[in-house]
Amino acid sequence: GARWGQVVEAAVEHGLAPLNGTAPSVGAVGYTLGGGLGILGREFGYAADHVRSVDVVTGDGVLRHVTRDSDPELFWGLLGGGAQLGVVTELEIGLVPVARLYGGALTFDGRAVDPAAVLRGYEEWTRTLPDTVTSSLAALVYPELPHLPPQLRGSYLVLIRVAFTGSEAEGERLVAPLREIGPTVSDTLREMPYAESPSIHGDPDFPHAFYGDNAVLSTLDVDAAGDILDLTGPSATAMHILQLNHLGGALARPAENAVPYREAGWLLRLLSPLDGADVEAHRKVHAEAFGLVAPQTLGRSLNFVFGGSDRPQGLYDPETRKRLAGLKATYDPANLFRHNHSVE
Ligand SMILES: Cc1cc2nc3c(=O)[nH]c(=O)nc-3n(C[C@H](O)[C@H](O)[C@H](O)COP(=O)(O)OP(=O)(O)OC[C@H]3O[C@@H](n4cnc5c(N)ncnc54)[C@H](O)[C@@H]3O)c2cc1C
Repeated sequence: GARWGQVVEAAVEHGLAPLNGTAPSVGAVGYTLGGGLGILGREFGYAADHVRSVDVVTGDGVLRHVTRDSDPELFWGLLGGGAQLGVVTELEIGLVPVARLYGGALTFDGRAVDPAAVLRGYEEWTRTLPDTVTSSLAALVYPELPHLPPQLRGSYLVLIRVAFTGSEAEGERLVAPLREIGPTVSDTLREMPYAESPSIHGDPDFPHAFYGDNAVLSTLDVDAAGDILDLTGPSATAMHILQLNHLGGALARPAENAVPYREAGWLLRLLSPLDGADVEAHRKVHAEAFGLVAPQTLGRSLNFVFGGSDRPQGLYDPETRKRLAGLKATYDPANLFRHNHSVE
């Protein structure tokens, strides 16, 4: 049940870091079983790639200590196959020697700077990057809600989030083209100890309900992504958070686990808050948005499906799915773990 915040706290004492994601509140095990796309992903790969052993009570009721050598097929399927083979009681993971980084977020006012121009500038910038830079773009319109700070109510923000393990001077040089895209309302790019890295994304640390889905893309069609910005921006009738993660680098390296679609260049995610929202309306917007990138879509990423378990298609490529079904038949023949996108 350890959450990433606890693991990071323990690791930084040794000048090390795990391959955690953006939010300290996320569970290390659930995240890693789904692959785990972290803030240093392009440099070090998925969290699943750094697991050394898994202690698991499989669906047949047996406690097993699983390593690459002891049971290569089960080890392969547990990592990236999602939480469908058993209950994990312990994970041994490798850490990486990262004690500090250069990172933060550039925030543009989507009503003052053309969001499509930010998107184009960002996509062009990613073509020039070393694997030591991991970044993403987010766009969202805050609703007019009284509990939000006045400056956020109704605002349209486009953010570029960056993490770079090189020096501060090199980081400043690398992000210079981003700063030329246009004036920002906030620029938090700076040198920081790894323990402060959650500030890059500033994810809320309280539970919140979303309908969320995604598309893993071979390449990014910037025009189509611009149309999705229009669809989910100020003209939308409900709030949607659009996110684009730049993949590649070490995320594309083959590994002995079930994380699919390594060849992908981009991940497109949509998160739509559920508080009192019309889910059918959300589904329609998502269908239209993901339809626009259908030609580049390889599949969907397990960790970023929220409330969408009625659509299991595309979570694994056919070969991965077949291997997982074989493991399911051996280790959980009664399909005890069937609520987690299980492969029957
Ligand atoms: C704010 C936020 C930020 C996020 N950022 C990222 C990110 O940067 N990168 C990324 O890849 N994902 C990210 N995610 C997605 C996250 O990885 C998934 O939601 C993941 O499933 C969370 O796991 P959990 O254990 O916290 O949640 P839970 O809902 O408790 O668990 C998720 C699934 O795993 C199962 N599970 C949990 N623990 C175990 C265990 N010990 N053994 C077997 N099954 C188990 C649960 O039954 C459940 O089906 C984020 C999610 C949120 C809410």
